[in-house]
Amino acid sequence: MSTTRAGFVAVLGAPNVGKSTLVNQLVGSKVSIVSPKVQTTRARVMGIAMQGQTQIAFLDLPGIFVPKRRLDRAMVDAAWRGAADADTVLLVVDASRGLDDNTETIIAGLAERKIAALVAINKIDLVKRGALLTLADAINKRATFAATFMVSAAKKDGVDDLMADLVQRMPEGPHLYPEDQLTDMSERLLAAEVTREQVFLQLHQELPYSVAVETEKWEEFKDGSARVEQVIYVQRDGQRKIVIGEKGARIKAIGAAARAELTNVLGRRIHLFLHVKVAEDWAEKRDFYRVWGLEYDA
Ligand code: GDP
Ligand code: MG
Repeated sequence: MSTTRAGFVAVLGAPNVGKSTLVNQLVGSKVSIVSPKVQTTRARVMGIAMQGQTQIAFLDLPGIFVPKRRLDRAMVDAAWRGAADADTVLLVVDASRGLDDNTETIIAGLAERKIAALVAINKIDLVKRGALLTLADAINKRATFAATFMVSAAKKDGVDDLMADLVQRMPEGPHLYPEDQLTDMSERLLAAEVTREQVFLQLHQELPYSVAVETEKWEEFKDGSARVEQVIYVQRDGQRKIVIGEKGARIKAIGAAARAELTNVLGRRIHLFLHVKVAEDWAEKRDFYRVWGLEYDA
């Protein structure tokens, strides 16, 4: 019998560089929600991949940026805690944005904490080869990285090479999770994330940042389907009206898209019911932080 390997890879990077897209590709299944807006990922999401006899648990972490609100501080804290606990840290940089302030902050933070990392330059589909080599050079002048990868998570370009390298870096040992497990997130939380993704995709400006989604009821049926009731929390009555939309059109569209996505992700039929409630202070409630494994007083 060949030896088994298992370990954790923490995926770090500035907001919006494509961390969640990359983790979903590495896992081969959607475990983390993705949107064009920053700060989509709020908590640590684990995506588990099997590659031969090796199991890799990827920690898709919130983006690191300069935090202002309580929730921001908790997200950045979760990202650094994830990095400290991992066997390998993968820094993701957006090729089209290069070394911005957020990425510089992370590189400095890694050095300060003496955390060794690999770097993956993502979104290579957006830039010319020459610019890419210049960027790789600049990054490796800032700090010593064990290896540099060029990938396009969206096009799945270079992802297999990255995976093959990561496999080699995992310590020998028994698997940490059942081999068919894809995430450590419960179906209830995953379902809440899928709905929140639609809020990010379908609503604009600041509104998505004022929204939290909670799965309140989950009823299983004999035919394998489930009835799921969720509450979309907003912070003001005006926001409630926007989420509901004209004659309920927006909430209907959010529900339809989330239901289709959930049915796809969970591989079974989901009957989804959404309610919208105003809870001005959800981002100050301890319960919210506990459910998502975030530190309230970060
Ligand atoms: P995160 O905030 O770092 O987790 O980033 P996401 O995974 O949510 O992606 C942010 C945005 O970048 C989304 O609109 C993705 O579709 C897009 N994106 C991710 N990877 C790539 C890529 O390789 N190429 C291009 N062109 N877009 C990408
Ligand atoms: Mg993300």
